[in-house]
Amino acid sequence: MGGKGIVFGKIWGITLKLNPSWFIIFVLITWALAGSYFPGQYPAWNFTAKLSAGVITSLLFFTSVLVHELMHSYVAQHEGTEVKSITLFIFGGVSEISGEPKNAGDEFSMAIAGPLTSLVLGGILMAVWAVLRHDAGGPGQFIAAVSYWLGLINLSLGAFNLIPGFPLDGGRVFRSILWGKSGDLREATRTASQVGKVIAYIFIFIGIFLFFSGNWLNGAWMVLIGWFLDNAASGSYRQVQLNDLLKGHKVSEAMQGDCVSVTPEVSAEYIINEYALTKGQQCFPVMDGENLEGIVSFDSLRGVAKEARRDKTAAQIMMPLEQMKTVEPNDELGKVLSIMTEGDVSQVSVVQNGKMVGLVSRERLLSFIDLLANPGR
Ligand SMILES: [Zn+2]
Repeated sequence: MGGKGIVFGKIWGITLKLNPSWFIIFVLITWALAGSYFPGQYPAWNFTAKLSAGVITSLLFFTSVLVHELMHSYVAQHEGTEVKSITLFIFGGVSEISGEPKNAGDEFSMAIAGPLTSLVLGGILMAVWAVLRHDAGGPGQFIAAVSYWLGLINLSLGAFNLIPGFPLDGGRVFRSILWGKSGDLREATRTASQVGKVIAYIFIFIGIFLFFSGNWLNGAWMVLIGWFLDNAASGSYRQVQLNDLLKGHKVSEAMQGDCVSVTPEVSAEYIINEYALTKGQQCFPVMDGENLEGIVSFDSLRGVAKEARRDKTAAQIMMPLEQMKTVEPNDELGKVLSIMTEGDVSQVSVVQNGKMVGLVSRERLLSFIDLLANPGR
């Protein structure tokens, strides 16, 4: 979750996005603040004051979530991990960080950075409130009111994220500690996701209890958070299971080796008629003499308009060598899985000594996994 969204900015090379669900929660929070919370606390305020306090507080709340995510990303980038995007959505923020952290220490600092930021922000806001809270009116009271709510929310955000259920920040901290002790990332992920599921069920259970004791809005909210946590924990657990399944298997076992090399000058039409249609081949390394220049895939052929097939050459439609995701035949098959899940890549080329020896497509990998998971069929 969190991949899709409306781009609204870029910081440190990280794309900032808003998921459509964000707008729902933005309106709800503004409405609750301006229509109920501020009028209850400050009955003397006029309509403009209540409304602007609601909108400003709501916007600053999302800024706090963004700052929380940015601090994760800041640490990640300093540890040499690429951060592609941050998406704000209904439950907060998600950073799209490529690859697993390199070691337990790196993961620990990256995970703890977010909740610490929220706790520090919360502390500062509460201090602002403490200084201004006796102001009887005017901007001082306004700032105190906004700071109090934001301070509380940031403290809760920090505390909530420290709950040790993977993939919450606290769960990542927990996993990094287990990982540091045992040296086994998979086992640590397994344990942390299981604890994450237990915590998700506790949320759902408390939510149902609240719901039936009359506090239905908070109850429903808790159930929703629990459901989200359960999904996230199951997702990371499945990832571990897949990696376990592929453990010990090499790229060479799943690759298709029936690639036919073509020269850079041949036309798309030629490749389609001679190889793709008649022999069902799907991978065409483009070779200039002994040198691999790139690869023409089934997808790149499909992208050429019918009228243009005669004029487009292999060199024009190929994916150049620099952009290709490549593995070696003796690499772990799990490496292909991570390349595909991270980069939205549907095929990975297998290269040995500068020569292309095969291709692993998404379908190929999926049927291989299916075969491993259901050996009896
Ligand atoms: Zn976080």
